[in-house]
Parts: sequence; C-alpha cells; structure tokens
Amino acid sequence: MTASASDPIAAIATAPGRGGIGVVRVSGRDLGPLIAKLFEGIALAPRHAHYLPFKDAAGQAIDAGIALYFKAPHSYTGEDVLELQGHGGPAVLQRLLRRCLEAGSDLGLRHAEPGEFTQRAFLNERLDLAQAEAVADLIDASSEAAARSAMASLSGAFSARVNALADRLVHLRMLVEATLDFPEEEIDFLEKYQARPALAHIQEELRALIAQARQGMILRTGLHVVLAGQPNVGKSSLLNALAGDDIAIVTPIAGTTRDKVAQQIHIDGVPLHIVDTAGLRDTEDTVESLGIARSWAEIEKADVILHLQDARRPGDELDRAIVQRLPARTPVLTVYNKIDLLAPDELAAIPGLAQCSAQAEGHEPGKDRAETHDPAGLPALAGHTATSNTPSSPGGGVPSTLGISAKTGIGLDALRKQLLDIAGWNPGAESPWLARERHLRALQMAANHVDLAVRHADRDDQALDLFAEELRLAHNDLCAITGQFTSDDLLGEIFSSFCIGK
Ligand code: GDP
Ligand code: ZN
Repeated sequence: MTASASDPIAAIATAPGRGGIGVVRVSGRDLGPLIAKLFEGIALAPRHAHYLPFKDAAGQAIDAGIALYFKAPHSYTGEDVLELQGHGGPAVLQRLLRRCLEAGSDLGLRHAEPGEFTQRAFLNERLDLAQAEAVADLIDASSEAAARSAMASLSGAFSARVNALADRLVHLRMLVEATLDFPEEEIDFLEKYQARPALAHIQEELRALIAQARQGMILRTGLHVVLAGQPNVGKSSLLNALAGDDIAIVTPIAGTTRDKVAQQIHIDGVPLHIVDTAGLRDTEDTVESLGIARSWAEIEKADVILHLQDARRPGDELDRAIVQRLPARTPVLTVYNKIDLLAPDELAAIPGLAQCSAQAEGHEPGKDRAETHDPAGLPALAGHTATSNTPSSPGGGVPSTLGISAKTGIGLDALRKQLLDIAGWNPGAESPWLARERHLRALQMAANHVDLAVRHADRDDQALDLFAEELRLAHNDLCAITGQFTSDDLLGEIFSSFCIGK
C-alpha cells in the first residue's frame, strides 16, 4: 500500500538528541478515536493544555506531560492535530511515538514523511507554497538576518507582493479579452484602458521583485567563495583570519564547517562558504597534482574567486597563467597579501593599488586599508556590475584589487565588504524575504512575458491576441510561486528536502 495523502500521520517533531521537552505530533482528519484510546476516555478540550500520564498499551506510564488538541480546521495542518509534549529524550519520545502508531493502527496512522505536516498545511490552504518553503528556510536559517527574512516570507510578505502583481495582470487580461470579443470596434486598446501606465507599473514592480529576490537568495544560500593562488601566498592564513573573527551563529553543516579547508562565515548576516585550495603551480608530484586538480574543480564551482597573490611579487608569470585559466563567467577579486612586509613606496608601486595610497594620504602608512577602485580593471567583473545594483564605493567603480595582510588584519574589513559587493549584495537594500532560485526564475520568466506583451501591444497592428497570451503566461509564472499551479513533482521536490516532523 502506498502512503496516501489522507492517512493520519505521526512523527517526533523536535530535533533528535536530548532536551527539556520533546514533542510527538499527530495529524489526521479525525483524531477523536485515537485520543479516546490514548487517554482512556478523557476528552481533550481543543486548545487547552492537559497535564496527563502517557501510558503504553498495558497501562504502564511512559511519561507524563502536556497533551494539546487542535481541532480541524484550526490547526497547523488544517486537520485535527494532537501534540504530546513529553520529556525530551530519544528513548521516551520513541516509545511515545510507537504508542501512538500502535493505538492508531486501525485508523491507518503511519509515520510521517519529510515535510508532510507542512505539505498538508499547503494542501489545506493554511499556507501558500512560498510560505511553506519559508518554514524550512526559517528552521535552516544560519544567521539572524536570514531568520528575519524567512519569517517575513512565512508571514506572507513576499506572497502578498506576488499576489498583488498577479491581480494587476488578471485585470489587464480581462480588459484585453473583452476587447478581443469585439474586434469590429477597432479601438486602440492601450489608449482606451490606459494600459500603458499599468504595464509600466507591472514591469517596474517585477524589476524590483527580481532585485529583492536576488538579495533574498544570497541570504538564503550564501556564496561559495574559493581562495585560489600559488602556494604560500597566505590562503590558509586568510581563511583562518576571516573565520576567527566571525561571531555569527555557526551551524555545523556536514563536510564544510570544521574540516580545515572550508569554513562557513557570515558577513552582515550573509553566509559565505569559503574554500581553501591547494596552491596552484606546475608540479611533477602526483599527490600534489591531485590536490591541484581538486582546486580547479572547486574554482569551477565558485560564485566568487578570490585570487590571492604575494604583494612582494604581484602578477608574476605564474599568477598571469592562473588568471588565464579562471572561468570568465565568475567574478574575481584580486587580493595582494602580506602588505605588512612592504614599504609605503613599494606598496604604491603595485599597479592598481597606487590610487589607493593616494586616497589613504594623511593616514598612518601601513595602518590604513589599501584599496582602490579601478573601473577599467578586471574584465571578468565587467559583466557582473550590471547585477550589482549598488555603487557602494564612491564613484561607483568596480574595485579591482585590494591589499591586505592576513597576519595583521589590515584590509580585512574592506575585503569583507568587497566580497559582498562583487557578489551583487546590496547592503543598503532591505531584503524583505528569503527567496529561492525557483522564485527568481519564475519572476524573470514573468518579466520576459510582460516585456513581450508590451512589444506586441506597441506594434502598429497591435497584436492583441499575442499580447493577451503573453499576459496569461506571465500570470502563470507568478501563480507558480505561491503554488496555485503546481505539479506533484515540484511538491515532492520541495517537501522532501524538509526534515521529518516539519
Ligand atoms: P598558503 O600556502 O597560501 O595557504 O599560505 P599560508 O597561509 O600557509 O602562509 C604561508 C606563509 O606566509 C606562512 O608562514 C604565513 O605565516 C605567512 N603569511 C601569511 N599571510 C601573511 C601576511 O599577511 N604577512 C606576513 N608577514 N606573513 C604572512
Ligand atoms: Zn594553505
């Protein structure tokens, strides 16, 4: 028998391990018979806390705790929900869960699949799809900023913007479809219904949503930053310096956090996964060349490449060879390390850093951060500035190179700022919600359809049928975000990434 969406389900809802309290959660259409069996006929008043013994089938106490009953539809899932709060130990909770499953076996009670409680909340319209995703994102948030934004999504802030936009599209579609029904009238649709400002508003709102969704996505998934460079330029020292200063919540993510070559740090609440790599050079040594091959594989996957060089020999032959091999699509930040070893005039002689020493004039030499803004630098960045909507640097130039000392900490603040900047993070802009790639893609597709619609309407022969069709497609894309149109595949993909008990 395959799991049915209408079976009652049960799971331990709290995290594995020991805690003061642990919760077993049950959801189903009618939990009356189960409650009667578990509590020997004691009726549970909905939304009241009942302190009761939790007994096994033989009448032996497993635990004593609080039973909470939420009657449908006033519950998280929209079904009857029973929550048993016992002592938070794995053995107690396992026994409690087993007891529920056994008492509910004639009702078809089974163990819940990952995300199944939230999936029911979605199917019973307690939450839309973007809100359901925000449940997982709130739980998984690795910084306070990410948690705040996830909560905003969960409360419906993102969905409300999307729905308002969808309503505007529906209104326009109604008008254009009414016009299409009377083709003999030969009216200028755009003129008659003042559709042009309405369309312009929709385009503008979509652009704003896309920009915010991009921010929200960075906040949710973080950035994959790879440290590349020759051996001994100070990559590991820099990783340690950046990680050592991080005071954000550090969540142990398998395979990244403490395995020495990768660290998760936070800058302004943005999670950054920083990967150290084996130094890049030509080598005959098989073991070392394996490490180097892995380094290039990491570089291919990076969102941002930090190319670290020794400030005493900037841009030497090997570094030029490295630059040649870096993927052109990825933004590169060139960083000269060990500037503590340089005299001020040597520092000034580094191409691209000269301007900075001019800027730093009047500051104590060596104590100031050495940075510069060179709009002409780094072709790899040129494509990226378009998405970086904040000229946070004076003059709006793209920073090309940066001087730091991993040893003394000079320039690290500037480096942190530029890492975010180069990745398109806009520190000034609110990021009102967490977004997923799915949301960003849907918004971009909707924007494309609206742009096409405008083009059709602007033609001399005003192709109104094509115009209407593009609006319909744009509307579909927006509805996919909140889950008005979904496929089972999409739902499976979203909810299977939840933990059990959510
Ligand atoms: P990696 O091979 O690129 O990972 O380089 P390491 O981080 O292992 O550093 C190589 C050597 O350079 C070590 O002896 C570090 O102490 C030294 N080093 C790293 N950064 C600095 C710096 O900013 N200033 C100075 N003076 N030495 C540094
Ligand atoms: Zn190293």
